[in-house]
This record gives sequence, C-alpha cells and structure tokens, in this order.
Amino acid sequence: MKVQPNGPTNVTGVMKPVLLPILLLLSSFAAAAQDVQPIELHHQLVLPASETGKVVALTLDACAGGFDAVLANFLIDHRIHATIFATRRWIRRNPDALAMLKAHADLFDIENHGANHVPAIIGAGRNVYGLAGMADLKQLKQEVSGGAQAIKAATGIAPHWYRGATGEYDPEAIKFIEAMGFKLAGFSVNADSGATLDKKKIVARLKKVRSGDIIIAHLNKPASDTGKGMAEGLQLLLDQGFRFVKLDAAAVQPLQNRV
Ligand SMILES: [Zn+2]
Repeated sequence: MKVQPNGPTNVTGVMKPVLLPILLLLSSFAAAAQDVQPIELHHQLVLPASETGKVVALTLDACAGGFDAVLANFLIDHRIHATIFATRRWIRRNPDALAMLKAHADLFDIENHGANHVPAIIGAGRNVYGLAGMADLKQLKQEVSGGAQAIKAATGIAPHWYRGATGEYDPEAIKFIEAMGFKLAGFSVNADSGATLDKKKIVARLKKVRSGDIIIAHLNKPASDTGKGMAEGLQLLLDQGFRFVKLDAAAVQPLQNRV
C-alpha cells in the first residue's frame, strides 16, 4: 500500500512516539544477542581424598567423518577407558567402528555429541570455529534429543552426558541442555585442538597432564596426527602410572587453579 504523505492513512505522526521506543528496544535485544560470548566449559574430576593414585578421564569426540582405528586399537590393547562423544551423523557413517566400540563396552561409554554437530550457540548468523550455531532453542532441542535417540537406538543405552560441537555454549543453552537432563562434559586438557595438531605438539600437551584432568581429543580424523600423537603421549602417561577412568567414575567440577 502506498501511503499518502498527508492523507488520512498517514499515521506516522501518531505512531512514532509508540513505535520508536519499541524499535529501539528490539534493536537493543538483537545487539545483546550478538554480544553474548560463548563459554568453553573447563572441568576436572573430583577425586576422593582417599585416592592416592594418578587418575584422569580421556574423552574422545566423534564429530563427523571417519574412524581413527589406530587410536581405538591402542586404547583396546592397553585397556584404556574412554568416554566417546558421538554424533548421529558419525554413528550412521561408521557402523563398523560403532560395532568395535560396542564390543568393548567395558572400556568405552558412548555419549551424546548431538545429531548434526551444530554448536550450542543461539541466534541467526552466529558461528564458532566456522560452524553455524542454532536458529533457536527448538533447534537446540532437536540437536540434543536427536543425538540421544541415535545413541539409544545404536547401543541400547540412553546417554546422559552431552558435549556440544566445538565445546562452546551460550549461557542459555547450558541451562536448556541441563534442564533436558544431561550433564555437560567440559575438559581441562585440549590434546589435539580439533585434530589439527602435529604429533610432537600432542605429545607435549599430554606431558602436562595431571591427576584429575579431563583430556579431550578426536576419534574421527584418521588422516590427522591425533592417533600417533595420542598413542605416544598416552603411553608416557601409562608409564608414569596414570589410570584412565570413564567420566561416570567420578564427579566433575569447574576447573580450579589452571588457566
Ligand atoms: Zn565435535
């Protein structure tokens, strides 16, 4: 409709005092959404005072793509427990790998990494590490429940830990996921930076592991240095007497005394 500048349909003069504050308010909400900074969750294990040994949790993300059999076989050969965060996408693409993990259910817990590896950040146009976030909380719910359903269908066991793609979350996403009944899995040692580090750097990072740490690395990039680097670094930890537990073996708490 074409509004006549001075005709009866011209309501600008009447509406302006009402509309302007509303528009300003809406634009400030939009600006606030853009200003939200995602949080990278840093957690460590809560070990009982009676624990005198060196205990760490290894977590491995299976985001999309393939399967690092070198790393998986090293874990099996050395009886290393791990908590694996798998997406629905990865489960569908890697049935043989899934069968291998299930065959060693005593070593591996399979937990929820979402349906399609979409980061838990909310708002159009926002992204983290190049991955686009969620449009809204409805999509977040689909991502979390879709991942959980895929794991339940594939393993018969409902997951109760969640780690979002990239490990970064908006504060409102954290509350939402926890309200869905999931515990969020942070980490304290980033061993492979998304399977981008070379073997030497991965070993150097694992050399800094201390009792109570939660290590993150990746199980889905067989062409990367992760498998070789983790095998060498984990062997060093084994040689020092470290014991590896699944996340469920201990409570977790926000990381203390480490940047
Ligand atoms: Zn991932």
